[in-house]
Amino acid sequence: MTDDQLSEDVARGIERAAELIAGARRLVVTTGAGMSQESGIPTFRDAPSALWENFDPMELATRDGFKNNPALVWRWYSERRRMIAGATPHPGHHAIADMEEMFDEFLLVTQNIDNLHREAGSQRLVELHGNIFRFKCFDRDHPVDHLPEGDEEPPRCACGSMIRPDVVWFGEVPNLDGINTALGAIAMCEVVLVVGTSGLVYPAAGFPETAKAAGATVVEVNPEQTPITAFADVSIAARAGVALPPLVAALRRHSA
Ligand code: NAD
Repeated sequence: MTDDQLSEDVARGIERAAELIAGARRLVVTTGAGMSQESGIPTFRDAPSALWENFDPMELATRDGFKNNPALVWRWYSERRRMIAGATPHPGHHAIADMEEMFDEFLLVTQNIDNLHREAGSQRLVELHGNIFRFKCFDRDHPVDHLPEGDEEPPRCACGSMIRPDVVWFGEVPNLDGINTALGAIAMCEVVLVVGTSGLVYPAAGFPETAKAAGATVVEVNPEQTPITAFADVSIAARAGVALPPLVAALRRHSA
């Protein structure tokens, strides 16, 4: 879709957002599963039919589930990793990467584990829920840089423990360094741009409201209404890949 085809409301929202963002020096962008929907990765809400079919999330995405059936969980993540490896960033991911150099202070806080922001070139980012292409030791939590050769599912760490994907499972706390970095940026930012998140999964769900309470402007990009829509200063009801490239183009016009 081009600028010409944007609905009037969306075009107006983008222009208003650009006015607000262009005047800021400190921007935080937060993204959720909707950010990767146009790259072909189902959101959590879509996932039950496509990904979690016949499986209970408590069996697949918890420490106890892994302990009870490590091979099942390992294979499920291997399958998901193969699916995600075939996906590529869309123009919205590239637009966010382009924003990085436009601000004195910039941080991208993503809940996504799919690595697409890095592939698009984003560097100043916090992956709150980990990254499906990284691994760690199940017992001792240290990173595992290379998987050992062999067919064992899951493979074993040098210390003898099972190796698990480095993602945050239900009941686990996202990495504390990441949360602290995100909260520091949220407290200081002038604008927070919230893309493709239902605003229901904490701690990320609380970031826009925290930023707003600290005086920041909140801009949302999401085709559906969310709890964030009610207090956002601008809500652009469009998909990320549709709204973000013209938003960056408008930011460039404002700063020219
Ligand atoms: P969610 O599934 O709860 O909500 C997705 C949101 O994205 C919805 O509000 C939906 O309206 C919106 N959306 C759908 N398509 C969009 C598009 N093209 N552009 C913009 N918005 C769009 O996602 P969540 O809030 O991120 O929470 C779910 C949890 O599941 C998170 O922890 C996330 O890490 C995890 N998850 C990650 C991935 C991934 O890495 N790609 C995929 C599925 C789930």
